[in-house]
Amino acid sequence: METIKYRNYILRNYTDIPQLSSLSKDEKEAIEVVGQVLPFKSNNYVVEQLINWNNVPEDPIFTLTFPRKEMLPKNHYSQVKKLLYADDEPGLKKKVNEIRMELNPNPAGQSYNVPALDGIRLHGIQHKYRETVLFFPSQGQTCHAYCTFCFRWPQFIGMNELKFAMKEAGLLHKYLLTHTKVTDVLFTGGDPLTAKANIISAYIEPLLTKEFSHIRNIRIGSKTLSYWPYRFLTDKDADDLLRLFEKVKKAGKHLAFQAHFNHPAELSTDAVKQAVERIQNTGAQIRTQSPLLRHINDDHVIWGDMWKEQVAQGMIPYYMFIARDTGSKAFFEVSLEKAWNIFRKAYRSVSGVCRTVRGPSMSADPGKIQIMGITEVRGEKVFVLRFLQCRNPDLVDIPFFAAYDKKATWFDELKPAFGEKYFFYQKNNQLKKNEKNTDIIF
Ligand code: SF4
Repeated sequence: METIKYRNYILRNYTDIPQLSSLSKDEKEAIEVVGQVLPFKSNNYVVEQLINWNNVPEDPIFTLTFPRKEMLPKNHYSQVKKLLYADDEPGLKKKVNEIRMELNPNPAGQSYNVPALDGIRLHGIQHKYRETVLFFPSQGQTCHAYCTFCFRWPQFIGMNELKFAMKEAGLLHKYLLTHTKVTDVLFTGGDPLTAKANIISAYIEPLLTKEFSHIRNIRIGSKTLSYWPYRFLTDKDADDLLRLFEKVKKAGKHLAFQAHFNHPAELSTDAVKQAVERIQNTGAQIRTQSPLLRHINDDHVIWGDMWKEQVAQGMIPYYMFIARDTGSKAFFEVSLEKAWNIFRKAYRSVSGVCRTVRGPSMSADPGKIQIMGITEVRGEKVFVLRFLQCRNPDLVDIPFFAAYDKKATWFDELKPAFGEKYFFYQKNNQLKKNEKNTDIIF
């Protein structure tokens, strides 16, 4: 395959993109204004091969990486615009930081998930579920392009107090040695595959030794297949990265590649198809996931097509998420009822091999909560829910109920059904020792 040089576009140079000449003055202004608050980055592969410029600004992949005016509340937009064009740099910086703090920068109690070792808080680790540790390598806290809906946007804006990251492989390994119930390590970000292969290797290879026999699954969460598939084809260390995946397999462990695809367009190029095949040839398995996003994929046909194409390429559909309550959520959100309807219509349109997917699921404070349906119990219309994951593993898979709410878009907006004061997991916690829902209890 021909080598293509990676070129990224950020606020400083985005006007170099020739295709932008088709945008209106207001659309260009929106990139400048919204881009002050939420991170912006795209690249030549996304611009040239994924976006259909005849369909801009509605094009789903354009909306996926380019800021649009409606992604900020009106008052925030006009405040930032005024300061930006007044060249008031200190005023702009102050206002932008205030707005960012209003946008719920670290949703779902993520800061509660940061554990400590020997009295030191490990700011590059999250340990929410007993079996799985998330690791945020410092060198992978960027992405090949930024998604406009990203729930990890504080990783990219230079506010270090909001960021999860660390580079000390030794601390990760020490933590894992003292937590032998952990079976899975998930490398996440940002996108850990923006780091060089030798850096990733320094974290992963020690986990292949006997000392870490309890670690069964090495998971990598990445959107690189979608935003820069050449990472697995022609980048200088592409082969080194794939050799590392092979080593994981040879060590008797599972390399689970969690690929992030939001739309079938991302699965359509020759480059992504070849990259998928090269990864699969190492023995790794690719599971796919995405949030449900208005303006991008809020249509059951899109999801059905996406799952079918993923399976045709040998991937395993894994999760449909509800977009988290942070950043530009108001632009992307759909009601929980609509999310469930889209999921089930898509689910029933595909064959059993695609029905490995779970959802729609909310990664909320107490755990991953799946909407199983809407029904009537004792004359009351309710949401039927269950934990797919929970801080307290004993509570996984027990159905529970929330009062039906037509407008709700996130779990926090729901109330227990049948006039109850608490959800069942809250009662459990209170019986134990008045713990907060966000406490890690294992
Ligand atoms: S690839 Fe993931 S971490 Fe990176 S911007 Fe998109 S959603 Fe955020």
